[in-house]
Amino acid sequence: MTELRVYVSGLYSGPNPSPGLGVARSLRVAYPRAILVGVDYSSRSSGLHWPEFDEIWLQRPWDELHLGEYARQIRGILDSGALWVSGLDLETIWLAQAVRAHPNLLAPRAESLRTVAKPAVEAAEALGLGVPPFVHLSGSDWDLHAFCRRHDWKVWLKGPYYEARRVAQWSDVGEARAELAQTWAVTSELFLQAHVPGNEESIVLSALRGRLLGCARMVKREVTAEGKTWAGGVSAVPADLLQALAQFVEIVGWTGGAELEMVRDAAGAPWVLEWNPRFPAWIYGATLCGWNLPALLVEAAVGVPAAPSVASAREFVRVVLEVPTRTGFPVSPLPETSADGFRPASKHPSGMALLARRLGARRDVETVREAPEVPRSMLFDLRSIDERTVPTPSAVLLQRTTAESFERVASAVSHVRTECTQVRAAYSIKTNPDAALLRLARQNGFLAEAISQMEVQKALSQGFAAEDIVLNGPGKWWPATSEPVVGGAVFVDSVGEMEHLLERFRNGLPVPRIVGVRLRPPGVSSRFGVDLADYETFERLVTTLALLPSDVMLGAHFHVPSSMIGTQHWWSLYNATLRWCGVLEANANVSVGCFDIGGGWFPDDFARDLVPSLQAAVERACARLPRLRLFVLEPGKAVVQPCLAVIVRVLEVRRLAEGAAEIVVDGSIAELPEARSYPHRVLALRPADGEWEALRGGEDRVLGRLCMEDDVLATRVSLPHRLQRGSLLALCDAGAYDRSMSFQFARG
Ligand SMILES: *Cc1c(COP(=O)(O)O)cnc(C)c1O
Repeated sequence: MTELRVYVSGLYSGPNPSPGLGVARSLRVAYPRAILVGVDYSSRSSGLHWPEFDEIWLQRPWDELHLGEYARQIRGILDSGALWVSGLDLETIWLAQAVRAHPNLLAPRAESLRTVAKPAVEAAEALGLGVPPFVHLSGSDWDLHAFCRRHDWKVWLKGPYYEARRVAQWSDVGEARAELAQTWAVTSELFLQAHVPGNEESIVLSALRGRLLGCARMVKREVTAEGKTWAGGVSAVPADLLQALAQFVEIVGWTGGAELEMVRDAAGAPWVLEWNPRFPAWIYGATLCGWNLPALLVEAAVGVPAAPSVASAREFVRVVLEVPTRTGFPVSPLPETSADGFRPASKHPSGMALLARRLGARRDVETVREAPEVPRSMLFDLRSIDERTVPTPSAVLLQRTTAESFERVASAVSHVRTECTQVRAAYSIKTNPDAALLRLARQNGFLAEAISQMEVQKALSQGFAAEDIVLNGPGKWWPATSEPVVGGAVFVDSVGEMEHLLERFRNGLPVPRIVGVRLRPPGVSSRFGVDLADYETFERLVTTLALLPSDVMLGAHFHVPSSMIGTQHWWSLYNATLRWCGVLEANANVSVGCFDIGGGWFPDDFARDLVPSLQAAVERACARLPRLRLFVLEPGKAVVQPCLAVIVRVLEVRRLAEGAAEIVVDGSIAELPEARSYPHRVLALRPADGEWEALRGGEDRVLGRLCMEDDVLATRVSLPHRLQRGSLLALCDAGAYDRSMSFQFARG
């Protein structure tokens, strides 16, 4: 061979760089006289100006390129003896399809790429490593919401190519999904993945036709705001992983560079985040530390010996450099889209999103997703609705569902077997103050939990004894009366409230059996409770507790909604709060006799997580609090959320372009104010047999009757074709705040 000519693509070198520059710099060290040709698809890719490129081959943007012709040109280049090292994931995927295997194409084949597609389960298994839990977006919204709760809302939404979006609440899922689907022309390949806290590291490797040529480990020392490497330490890959890597590379017949991205959790276990089918952008950092992997690749491909690698350090840092622009490549002015500062032009360097859309357009996109599971009792209750006479919109109490729901909690509570304490449920009145529900609560042995004197009166009117009422919240004496009902237990929301309460006891207010305090564990952001992390507040609490009348039982109330913070986080706070109670006991010389864990559970989590763990949780409380006599749960929505459905009729069906549909119904967010906070199961009546069927996921929407942008009742559903004006829908899971916070609107 007379000259070594290497095409290197992916030249963007901004804060989220492509590897082209690093590959070129590494090759330059090993082959000072090689001709390096930089390839890119945007005149804004800053690395075009890097002086070590001998030539630049700048292409039209991906949406303008004639792909067949471009593939033919690349094949010609490869046939002429030149090499091609791709630095762009999507270009790699396209090359594997359009150019296929060529000895001079130093990139993986299509079959190899398939085995490492995100979330890289096959690769991780082969290497004996874990993959953080994930769920595909083809699951029902109901299940996706459950996944987020289970993983404490520390979740990423990821696509098959670049980018991951942090998801912290339900509305984020829809937004992130829409954005990624739009940018990358994918829907079915999107997935949610649990965040694993820890330190990030990578394995970078180089291989030719299944032979591992070299690899190195890089531990991130500094990252940018986007999480990109800014400094790292490079070392050899441990022997056992090295062997597994060599085997995997051989099995999949890998060619080219690759980066295995991982995070190491607090226990030291590595989790695979992704396998990128190219060298990483920091590849020159590895070269500086003695691992010139691009050089090994070229050397193996053409047999021309590379200059030996010299390690000048074990760590590298990155700096920002100014370079003169290349003659003939003027920099264009800022595009107008970036003038508002919201849409930086360089967000998707080298036009990867454009290529994704061209590749995606050819794929069959599966848009219909699974339907949520619907309990039998709910279907039974819906069947009893008379299609002709049911007024719409109306909230219908599902009798059997409701009865079973209260019985389930009562049974769970009565099945806790412990010597030390009594266990009681207290129904949260504000969640749904319907008299029928209060009566059911009482019949099932619940206490009543009230946050105002009005709620107290409601409980009394439904047959609750005063001593079975638990008073809680910041406004429990409102509205003021000359003889407020004190109930059996009072939990104060602040030290000030406790001081005031003690004064009122001295002035003749009846003293309840239990006086407690709502605690705010450190690290919890909440407007409620006594902040245990604040030393002065803690000290004031200790002083105040010493003044409690001696015949009063001290209570501790812990209440953080697990539906918002996630179930794992809730359990860690539960355990922490028990420890804090112990600290309080030791410091104030008091004993906690009542522990009350509040509400805030999503019904499924209550049934599948709290109830099965209740026995153990109560035992832990007894072990921490030797004088514990009463353990209280205060479920609201966990019991009643499934108990009502809002029945609506279709006013209009709109068929949209691209096959999607929207319907307008006579219900609205006035009847379903929580429509956006969590997924509601939507069922449609099938007139042929009178059965209700759950809508599957899809691209359709259910719109409310109000003339308000916000009035959208369901998104991402698939509407059956038979729906027409007058068809009935049931918007389920509307028995909690959807009911109590519903409002009158636009009714004249
Ligand atoms: C609202 C409330 C509950 C019930 O909360 P849900 O989210 O409906 O389970 C329980 N305890 C107190 C003190 C409350 O204010």
